[in-house]
Amino acid sequence: MYQDYEVVDVHGHMMSPPQFRAYAYGIVSNRNFGENRLRLKDDSIKEIVDHHVSLLDERNIDVQFISPRPVAMMHWERPPQVEMWTKTTNDVIAQQCASRPDRLFGVAQLPQSILLDTQNCVEELRRCIDELGFVGALMNTDPNGDGQTPGVDQPYWYPLYEAAESLKCVLILHPSLSRNPKLDRIPHSFQYNFLVEETLATLTYEYSDVFDRFPDLRIVVCHCGGSPNRLLRISDKPGGAKDSGLASGGSLNMPVEREVETVPDRSDNLFFDTCAYDIDYLRTVFRQRGAEQMIFGTEAPGAGTAFINPATDRPADDLVPLIDALGILTDDEKRAVFNGNVQRVFPIWRAIAAKR
Ligand SMILES: [Zn+2]
Repeated sequence: MYQDYEVVDVHGHMMSPPQFRAYAYGIVSNRNFGENRLRLKDDSIKEIVDHHVSLLDERNIDVQFISPRPVAMMHWERPPQVEMWTKTTNDVIAQQCASRPDRLFGVAQLPQSILLDTQNCVEELRRCIDELGFVGALMNTDPNGDGQTPGVDQPYWYPLYEAAESLKCVLILHPSLSRNPKLDRIPHSFQYNFLVEETLATLTYEYSDVFDRFPDLRIVVCHCGGSPNRLLRISDKPGGAKDSGLASGGSLNMPVEREVETVPDRSDNLFFDTCAYDIDYLRTVFRQRGAEQMIFGTEAPGAGTAFINPATDRPADDLVPLIDALGILTDDEKRAVFNGNVQRVFPIWRAIAAKR
């Protein structure tokens, strides 16, 4: 709890027992699994969920939305394998949520493929929302990992947007792997692919007509929405975040008639999670995006679990104390980040939680 408010983390990934990973290996190697979906025993689910929840307890997280591990979604495989793996993954997420209905809520994997329009994702999204009680789905902007997927403003994505709008669920934009050979020898290379894909998506959403076409669509871009802005911009939202500093041409005597770029107001549709572990990075993102657009997300357990943050002397993904230490945020803004903004953006979660 934070000041008597539940801390809700929208960026969690499932932990998976060995049988689950073995099943994935079987799909890749055998390439023919028919209708044999994996069924895990409740005992094996309970063991792994208990461990997961203990890690949440250590980080003062009351509720977490859990999705697939993005690097394991295998969207680059052939559609039949992707479909089988996706259904299995979602079934296991549902099992985990049912094991701790007070703590865990599901976010779906989608059977995305560069070979298919996103229309093929609609049936599984509907199953996950209507039958499994999930709150949203992960959206991978580059399922083939080759940079060839149409941009997020293109008609390729419209069937998915339309379905998410009609189901009143949220799309959580979280990329996966890249097969760019330039990343081959970089440790944790997928993290840099996240940064690139999320930055491109955020900019595209800001400047395109996606939210004019789909006014009720809500997207949460993970990892703070990609890179903070290097260039100076002003939001056209009343009272919106303003970058400072472009007052004159300065000592270089550049022309001063160029105006600071104005960003269209997307504050009803576009949100960002707080999943960054460097306090200076987070401070910049909060200043640029605005606290009302930021939603608590940690990715715990994950990339930050094994590292101690010297700023807090806690694991890097223990973000409550880090955000609490951000002097630029008021108490009201902190409460909104940990709880209020999630309630606003995920009304579907409140409805599902009330039924449990
Ligand atoms: Zn993640």
